[in-house]
Amino acid sequence: MKITRLKTAVVEGNFDWTFVRLETDEGLRGLGECFFAPGLTAILKSLEPLVIGEDPRDIHRLFRKLRLGTSGAGSIAGIIYNAISGIEAALWDLLGQSLGVPIYRLLGGRFRDKIRIYADCHGGEALECLDEVLRSRPARWVLKGPAAHVAKDYFGEVSDEPRSSPDDYRRRALAMKAQGFTALKFDFDVPGTEGADPYNRVLSNRAIDYGIGLIAAAREAVGVDTDIAVDCHWRYNPCDVVKVARQLEPFRLLWLEDPVPPENVAALKEVNAKVGVAIATGENLFLFEGFQEIIAQHAVSVVTPDLQKVGGLAVAQSIAQFADVHSMPVAPHNISSPVGTLTAAHFCASIPNFLALEFHASAVPFWDDLVTGLPHPLIQRGFIRLPEQPGLGVTLNEEVARRYARKGEAFFE
Ligand code: MG
Repeated sequence: MKITRLKTAVVEGNFDWTFVRLETDEGLRGLGECFFAPGLTAILKSLEPLVIGEDPRDIHRLFRKLRLGTSGAGSIAGIIYNAISGIEAALWDLLGQSLGVPIYRLLGGRFRDKIRIYADCHGGEALECLDEVLRSRPARWVLKGPAAHVAKDYFGEVSDEPRSSPDDYRRRALAMKAQGFTALKFDFDVPGTEGADPYNRVLSNRAIDYGIGLIAAAREAVGVDTDIAVDCHWRYNPCDVVKVARQLEPFRLLWLEDPVPPENVAALKEVNAKVGVAIATGENLFLFEGFQEIIAQHAVSVVTPDLQKVGGLAVAQSIAQFADVHSMPVAPHNISSPVGTLTAAHFCASIPNFLALEFHASAVPFWDDLVTGLPHPLIQRGFIRLPEQPGLGVTLNEEVARRYARKGEAFFE
């Protein structure tokens, strides 16, 4: 079997869901999804010559070939791997289809047949749509009327927009619990908690009190049996975020995510050692090498690789194995469509130390309609049942995908 074409399509969900399709001379087509990035489809097209004519079943060798081919550009990490992650997933899909088995079988089989999903609840509001440089954009699918909410640019100046309230957090927590989710994640870094200066990583006492009040409301609403994680998006300095974490200790969080920049191992380690809350990081780290130090030094307590970014399924398995040796659970970050979510689900089934997989698109009305051939909705009572069909186990609904395709991008052409 030989790869004959690499094609891409971008669907405008709450993020740019970027698909890569590998076509073969035997008629099989493999599908993968990449985490969004500026210029991503151009990178994918640049990589096409490296896989044309290759046997897609040589996954590890092709990964190495892509790695070597991009190393001269200095890409020892970074958005090249958003592209490679999608290609690698498409290779596993092809291998599974060619052998007639689901991807999780190729990864060594399963520890569980349904995958626990946690619901990202943002800042208590429902809708958010960001472009590839985290600017807020109006999405075509955003509801009109009072329920509509367009987020501010993710990293921007302090604005006087209405702040989230404890009631927002309470309502959102109860709504997601009612859908059956047993784990939720809320943002701590919402307007009101960025301090007077959005760039200096400093938190005022008032900002801390405000943020703690939001999390307290969510915890009070759902009780102790629903897990709650809290995300800081690498905004703060260690000293101030330790103050936050200590006040969060009574709420018995599942984890506190990205309290400080993930590339700062010393700062992470400082926070993790000082507080009685599990510190999690990983969504911005690449390859095994990106996780090696933070795991070996116990700078975190939970690792959160993103399957559409980290380098692929095999890389993620090596990270999970190393984390398991260090007795750490893995909770993959995920903002993808059902395609990337299922890729992650196969991985989650195959590792012993799985904790929960993220779902970030509860506000996108067509999320479930993007794929066919699986239960609808895909997430039922907070779990995804692992598909048994060959490969990834899902078919992209191209009619729906085309309806929300990003203008100016190719659509599998
Ligand atoms: Mg996060």
